[in-house]
Amino acid sequence: MLDKHQGARLANLWDDGKAAGMTEPEKLLYRSNLLGSDKRITNYGGGNTSAKVMEKDPLTGEMVEVLWVKGSGGDVGTIKMDGFSTLYMDKLRALKGIYRGVEFEDEMVGYLPHCTFNRNPRAASIDTPLHAYVPKPHVDHMHPDAIIAIAASKNSRELTSKIFGDEIGWLPWKRPGYELGLWLEKFCQENPDARGVVLESHGLFTWGDTAKEAYETTIEIINRAIAWFETENTGPAFGGRSKPVLAAADRAAIAKKLMPVIRGLVSAGESKVGHFDDSQAVLDFVTSTSLEPLAALGTSCPDHFLRTKIRPLVVDFDPAQPDVGNTLAGLPEAIATYRADYAAYYERCKRADSPAMRDPNAVVYLVPGVGMITFAKDKATARISAEFYVNAINVMRGASGVSTYVGLPEQEAFDIEYWLLEEAKLQRMPKPKSLAGRIALVTGGAGGIGKATANRLMQEGACVVLADIDETALEAAQTELSTRYGKDFVRSVNMNVTSEAAVESGFGDALLAFGGLDILVSNAGLATSAAVEDTTLALWNKNMDILATGYFLVSREAFRIFRNQKAGGNVVFVASKNGLAASPGASAYCTAKAAEIHLARCLALEGASAQIRVNVVNPDAVLRGSKIWTGEWKEQRAAAYKMDVDELEAHYRERSMLKLSVFPEDIAEAIYFLASDMSAKSTGNIVNVDAGNAQSFTR
Ligand SMILES: [Zn+2]
Repeated sequence: MLDKHQGARLANLWDDGKAAGMTEPEKLLYRSNLLGSDKRITNYGGGNTSAKVMEKDPLTGEMVEVLWVKGSGGDVGTIKMDGFSTLYMDKLRALKGIYRGVEFEDEMVGYLPHCTFNRNPRAASIDTPLHAYVPKPHVDHMHPDAIIAIAASKNSRELTSKIFGDEIGWLPWKRPGYELGLWLEKFCQENPDARGVVLESHGLFTWGDTAKEAYETTIEIINRAIAWFETENTGPAFGGRSKPVLAAADRAAIAKKLMPVIRGLVSAGESKVGHFDDSQAVLDFVTSTSLEPLAALGTSCPDHFLRTKIRPLVVDFDPAQPDVGNTLAGLPEAIATYRADYAAYYERCKRADSPAMRDPNAVVYLVPGVGMITFAKDKATARISAEFYVNAINVMRGASGVSTYVGLPEQEAFDIEYWLLEEAKLQRMPKPKSLAGRIALVTGGAGGIGKATANRLMQEGACVVLADIDETALEAAQTELSTRYGKDFVRSVNMNVTSEAAVESGFGDALLAFGGLDILVSNAGLATSAAVEDTTLALWNKNMDILATGYFLVSREAFRIFRNQKAGGNVVFVASKNGLAASPGASAYCTAKAAEIHLARCLALEGASAQIRVNVVNPDAVLRGSKIWTGEWKEQRAAAYKMDVDELEAHYRERSMLKLSVFPEDIAEAIYFLASDMSAKSTGNIVNVDAGNAQSFTR
């Protein structure tokens, strides 16, 4: 059987026509983007590319050799020209004169900025010497699954020579840094005809005289590894299947139950966002006989485990006799045990100057027969961690199929995880935003106040699920917000808040998308107008259904999740000034709005002991962008006040004490305040955002 992920060969995408007019740096960019466009060639953010180019020195006007190399923290697939560092090659070579030996190699990183060419602000990465000292003009360093599978095999040196002969060399494991750069140089000097080298437990270096030659060599070498696995790795994946795969709907149902509970247990230090993956590669692994022993070995490539922690947590779940209640009951202990094991690993491996222990919780949770759940500080990190673990699965599949898979030795893994240079990188990261890692669901999310609220919460780093009944508006809102903040931060669900089933399934989708819930903004609404003697039962019920019952249904669902998640919770009701102040000809609407406000107070009382806060924002006359303030209601209000519809906004402004119009953004600001920790000690409150209205003063 062919491996799905290693079965297909990589295509050579180089286009001479496109490359013809390019400068050398442009060709480097072109080649980098081509290589990074396929995750089988390198993982996100992994690997780097370089070119040594003759350029005119702005200081002397003379031609000098300049190293263009992917800078710190970039990704070759998405890198742009400003993602490359540029350094004088003669200065990089001169660094050899001050190198004090391998125990001092980290200090060499501090000299790299002194080698900068043309005041390029892009910081040089730790891998810079690896490219500088390979005496070839164009160098690629990639992390291909098929090559790492060879590099992570017990007999990786023997396999490398069996597959590639003398064309590709082999170097034993060495942490990337200055010393490895010198090793690569020595290798090239001793093997002038080699086209590249496999780095044990790590990845591949390849090179060429031109950008095209380097690219084509990289593709060719990876394809040869893929082809070799096709003929050699023919047994069942991971030694065969020992557990059944659940049906897709059952997998999702289990994940929805597990994710909020896991999230609550691992979010004490910082709120985390989840990701669920039940792709075929994952299912092959989590149903195999080798799941437990291979997972225990941890990942191999340093990039993989930096993102996925030293090893995953295998959740105790039997897909042959699914009993999720038992699994949920066992999670607190399983997670506590993982943390204790991690602390023990830290204690075993720490050095005198190691940074303090970081979050000891697992990133990757493998659920037999169901799939993989990951949790990280934001959605993108959780998703990328899952992608990395899929890379690791592919590596284990290849290596265990042809040899014995070996993870990186524990001390080496620790030294990379707690590397002082890595710590410095973490310290340089910007402070997280106030709602980073928080997950919000906003009903009526595609309308004026709803969308403005989603926007405000996302500005502060929250992930938002837009729930709305208007499919077209929902799509437009999701597109707008994902363009502004990134696809990872926003999802949408079609939700009729009067339907118990729709509410339940919409919240379920939110759990599957982000792994939990922190904030519910109940905002979906309507407004109607009629004198009481003309108010039909149907009209009365419609107001009650959408406003009172709708708010009840979504809050009940949120409360259920909050209680399972055990991490508090936050509910904000968008009610109305009319919930406090009577208004002519709108008794059904005003009464339903009053019900919302009192519901909020009851829920504040019930939720307090579980740290669930419930507060209300009362807008008044927010016309702009509102779907309520269109058509009938606007006309009816205008008629009630005996004026033209165009005069309404001015009427409300003049009626207010502050003589100001109220906009959706003003309401969103109050919601953000109540949804954030700024109001951590407020519950059962009402904030009027109505430009002042004495009738609705609370007392
Ligand atoms: Zn690497």
